[in-house]
Amino acid sequence: MSFELIFLGTGTSAGVPMIGCECAVCTSDDPRDHRDRPSVLVRYRDDSEGPTRQFLIDTAPEMRQQMIRHQINRIDGVLYTHGHADHIFGLDDLRRFNAVMKTAVDIHAEPMVLASLRKMFPYVFTPENNINPSFVPTLIAHELEPGRMLDFFGATWTPIRLLHGRLPILGFRIDFAGKSIAYCTDVSAIPPESYPLLQDLDVLVIDGLRYRHHPTHLTIEQALEQIEQIKPGRAYLTHMAHDIKHAELEPKLPEGVFLSYDGLVVQLGGDG
Ligand SMILES: [Zn+2]
Ligand SMILES: [Zn+2]
Ligand SMILES: [Zn+2]
Repeated sequence: MSFELIFLGTGTSAGVPMIGCECAVCTSDDPRDHRDRPSVLVRYRDDSEGPTRQFLIDTAPEMRQQMIRHQINRIDGVLYTHGHADHIFGLDDLRRFNAVMKTAVDIHAEPMVLASLRKMFPYVFTPENNINPSFVPTLIAHELEPGRMLDFFGATWTPIRLLHGRLPILGFRIDFAGKSIAYCTDVSAIPPESYPLLQDLDVLVIDGLRYRHHPTHLTIEQALEQIEQIKPGRAYLTHMAHDIKHAELEPKLPEGVFLSYDGLVVQLGGDG
């Protein structure tokens, strides 16, 4: 059995370094201060035959480099948290999985997010209108609903309602072989009905943008308050801006709380 989460990108929407910024973090030579736009890969395998299952949460603009860096050459689907540019603009690169796997790619999102994907990528979803026939991703869209659990190859996936400012978005909880992880990016508030879905977690990944207040993201302090309330086994902060210098902040975090960084692999037991 193996169950792991790979941080593909841990930065905020502009990435770190940001274009045109020469601050200490944007020019840092610590690789943990280099943050692609946010995405994770959830990977698990039971003891039976068959491939290791791999699901992407969001398709960041750097998706191509992220897939190459981690040699990810097949996926079992993509789940979208919401429709912001930093979470969806890698969608076009899903066509490589069509080519390599010789099958359509399943994507899962709330109806509102699927509608905005159709609006932002009309050439993908209505290819019959394209002037030239061209190689666009072949995707099969599935609707998600908060609280409605899904079984993907023996793991239970639970979409969790989160608030990103006024925008309702999704986090995901994944339960596999008695272990659990939740990924809650781009959140500024957790509605009361979502807390029961975040109980008894081994690992919580949560938005921790920066120190100063932001209308649509948790600050470091607010993220720590949420962790205190949710009480996961361990927690990792993500979606970090250039205000966060990894080596400076991490030693100050409470026990069991860590900063994520691009390429970090979190193992949840098993034989790897
Ligand atoms: Zn974002
Ligand atoms: Zn900077
Ligand atoms: Zn967002």
